[in-house]
Amino acid sequence: MPVKIAGEWLNSCSGCEIAILNLGETLLDLLPQLEFVHIPVLMDHKHYGQLGDKTEIDIPKAVVGLVSGGIRNEEHLEVAHEMRKTCDILIALGTCATHGGIPALINRFSNQELFDQYYHTESTDPGAAVPSNGLSPLLERCYALDEQIDVDIYLPGCPPHPDQIATAILALLNGETPELPFRSVCDTCPTRREGKGKVSAIKRFTSKPDFNPDEPIDQMRCLLEQGYLCTGPVTRAGCAGNNGEAPRCISARVPCRGCYGPVRQEGNQLLDMLNALASNGIDINTMLWLTRATVHFCISLPFSRKKITSPTLKNLPVFRRRYF
Ligand code: SF4
Ligand code: SF4
Ligand code: SF4
Repeated sequence: MPVKIAGEWLNSCSGCEIAILNLGETLLDLLPQLEFVHIPVLMDHKHYGQLGDKTEIDIPKAVVGLVSGGIRNEEHLEVAHEMRKTCDILIALGTCATHGGIPALINRFSNQELFDQYYHTESTDPGAAVPSNGLSPLLERCYALDEQIDVDIYLPGCPPHPDQIATAILALLNGETPELPFRSVCDTCPTRREGKGKVSAIKRFTSKPDFNPDEPIDQMRCLLEQGYLCTGPVTRAGCAGNNGEAPRCISARVPCRGCYGPVRQEGNQLLDMLNALASNGIDINTMLWLTRATVHFCISLPFSRKKITSPTLKNLPVFRRRYF
């Protein structure tokens, strides 16, 4: 009998859903064993009945639930609870769901500061009202899924590589629990490493790394050794897929930004990165050159969750000034 699957997207950009579609032919191979009962990206099944005639949210019972995106408003919270109720095994799909991701950068600001920034600036109409009609009220912050509901399986990545989604589904079909690799992006990176790069200051992302585009990626020197903030040492492997490709950003010759999160679920990517920089002889104060966007994942993940794993970092003057 096919395994029933439900999917939902909450505070999501839909990139994680596109990763499901990017399963491509693997998805076609899996389809005879699966029955999608509710998944907005693939089928039209509405929360309150096809004619809007139901008064309570209706997501059919499923064995596996895939939920992407964090929880930012009351509707997300309600749908998340409903998915938890109706799905036996709940998978947090993507870094927004596992850690809060990019949207959780907002957690450094209150909702009032957010609204003021959007609706009460020099260029907005004086007295402009914050829209509320038909919009679900915001919660006070953006939450990772497991800050509000129980999660059984974590599949980080922005988005997760389709190979990892397929591996997880196949494991579940075989009655096994999918395991995430306890390796770092560096462990899957083919770039050339020669030891400390004799670089003491971080370089801007906008400066061009040293590489020859006509040469294969394994001829390029490690970007961290070239002085770029490549968060490969502290980021969980996975984006290279299962076929021995290079990590996604590295194959585009840009540094890893840490989107898979820390190697350990409760690890502190930022603290580990500072250690990695220091052991490469790079002065961490030179990170002042970087913009908030440049380091978004690495900086945000330890702080986006309510449980701050390393409160002492908040007292570092350099980060306090730039990021809080
Ligand atoms: S994890 Fe990335 S791809 Fe997935 S919903 Fe969040 S921002 Fe989009
Ligand atoms: S630091 Fe970056 S470039 Fe260097 S090995 Fe790790 S992932 Fe590759
Ligand atoms: S290289 Fe880093 S930032 Fe890029 S996709 Fe992989 S884990 Fe994410």
